[in-house]
Amino acid sequence: MPSRKFADGEVVRGRWPGSSLYYEVEILSHDSNSQLYTVKYKDGTELELKENDIKPLTSFRQRKGGSTSSSPSRRRGSRSRSRSRSPGRLPKGARRSASASHQADIKEARREVEVKLTPLVLKPFGNSISRYNGEPEHIERNDVPRKNTQEKFNLSQESSYISTQYRLRPRREEIRLKEMDSKEEKFVTKELAVRTFEVTPIQAKDLEFGGVPGVFLIMFGLPVFLFLLLLMCKQKDPSLLNFPPPLPALYELWETRVFGVYLLWFLIQALFYLLPVGKVVEGMPLIDGRRLKYRLNGFYAFILTFAVIGTCLFQGVEFHYVYRHFLQFALAATVFCVVLSVYLYMRSLKAPRKDLSPASSGNAVYDFFIGRELNPRIGTFDLKYFCELRPGLIGWVVINLVMLLAEMKIQSRAVPSLAMILVNSFQLLYVVDALWNEEAVLTTMDIIHDGFGFMLAFGDLVWVPFIYSFQAFYLVSHPNEVSWPMASLMIVLKLCGYIIFRGANSQKNAFRKNPSDPKLSHLKTIHTSTGKNLLVSGWWGFVRHPNYLGDLIMALAWSLPCGFNHILPYFYVVYFTMLLVHREARDEYQCKKKYGVAWEKYCQRVPYRIFPYIY
Ligand code: NDP
Repeated sequence: MPSRKFADGEVVRGRWPGSSLYYEVEILSHDSNSQLYTVKYKDGTELELKENDIKPLTSFRQRKGGSTSSSPSRRRGSRSRSRSRSPGRLPKGARRSASASHQADIKEARREVEVKLTPLVLKPFGNSISRYNGEPEHIERNDVPRKNTQEKFNLSQESSYISTQYRLRPRREEIRLKEMDSKEEKFVTKELAVRTFEVTPIQAKDLEFGGVPGVFLIMFGLPVFLFLLLLMCKQKDPSLLNFPPPLPALYELWETRVFGVYLLWFLIQALFYLLPVGKVVEGMPLIDGRRLKYRLNGFYAFILTFAVIGTCLFQGVEFHYVYRHFLQFALAATVFCVVLSVYLYMRSLKAPRKDLSPASSGNAVYDFFIGRELNPRIGTFDLKYFCELRPGLIGWVVINLVMLLAEMKIQSRAVPSLAMILVNSFQLLYVVDALWNEEAVLTTMDIIHDGFGFMLAFGDLVWVPFIYSFQAFYLVSHPNEVSWPMASLMIVLKLCGYIIFRGANSQKNAFRKNPSDPKLSHLKTIHTSTGKNLLVSGWWGFVRHPNYLGDLIMALAWSLPCGFNHILPYFYVVYFTMLLVHREARDEYQCKKKYGVAWEKYCQRVPYRIFPYIY
């Protein structure tokens, strides 16, 4: 079935037939045979338009002055009421900014348009109007269109009328209008560029994470919180009643050699990243249409890392060093992350505006946190992409292994405990999955929306390896025996979470990669004005963020092997729920901005965000 770009009920801009001027219209319906959209102007006029004559609202909103929206009648009212319906007038914003010659062209063309094109105002198409009832009747890919013969007849009559009118247009005028179109298009593109790169600061109300005070608090609070957690976990009785934990001496926190080992780790991962193995893929299109190239070799880096670690273990290298200096490693990573964030911010000041992230605001503190530059690169070395999945994520598995060895050593075990094996294998599966599906990271918010600043640097390089390994760290000094029946239940829970998580992520990634993939043809979709559609059945018809649901179920499965003696190992579940609920709200906000009415319809069809029947 041929695809359509705009959904019923969507508010877009429709070209007034025979002119190059666009007005705000609502899409009423779409005829798949004639490929014409029935649209309604603000003054109630209904017309059928070709897809080429419709543009998303956003492309116009970008204009300076931004006031292009008025109905033909409203504009008519502001001048002469006796004028023809043909709204041969420029949108306000365009009028203000267009060059004199452009204005002259348009004036001249307008005269022609007004004289030659009057009878295009079609009376409402009887049934075709009543067909619209606010419900997405034809928007779903797999719905059978429900139209009666009379409607078809009316539509084909009307569409043939319109096409006749188009054909009757004199050739000279056609050429002129084409020229006008291309001029306007260039003008809009230029204006868009100006607006995108010059008017980047976002309104204070749009700042996320509580704005400047919020990010300030996070930047100071999170590292302190991390150290308090690790210190709590080191206590014999990590009960909340024993809060705050005794503070360590400075030498227990900092050792330059540890910092050196951390740097070495980072450099080795950078070296693996540079290896010319693995396929090269293109990322999502950037604001200027470019697509950056990314090499997918995370999984190879993981194999190589463990080949090196295996060799080191065989050679008798003492990995207990990492456990003994765990706090120092956490501080080394934090210091490195601060230095990296300062570097990222400084270099972003020289970055061209087109390279700034859509999340940046113009406020130095906020931008230091959220990241100013979207894809900071040194040559082809993409710093954000590298940090997302390499030093921190692979580091997490290495730390888990260190904890497993430490448990055996400290508890004098010949083999690791079942609880430790469960935690290690559950989390290993998660990391291997992320690296195996590395390409999926290219469509995440982190890559396409957030800049690279303190938030991602700290998250990727400090929080992930030192907090996500918390259960294994806890088990080293707080053993918990797990029975096989309990272990089986935990495995089932983990697998359920994984199936939902992987199923949802793969379904969306496959759909984004190839929306007409035959394997996905059974899924229903909602059309949006951006050209991208939204899945409304399958995993994405279950809740609006099924991948988060799966992730949270897995998080619970990771904590259960630690038993119920203390709340501390469940910190991850609580924190992760808060993170994903907040992230979901951020994503909803972005999607609503991106997809407008179509997103609202999706929310009506799929009312729950993460937890079915709860939230
Ligand atoms: P998602 O993978 O959930 O992507 C959200 C985007 O998907 C939206 O912006 C939209 O983008 C698209 N989308 C939303 N709804 C639909 C739909 N119905 N049909 C088609 N596309 C849709 O975002 P995240 O980057 O937050 O998460 C990726 C994974 O990473 C998740 O599994 C998450 O659990 C995990 N994660 C893990 C973290 C951890 O610390 N362990 C932290 C954060 C995330 P568009 O339409 O533009 O394509």
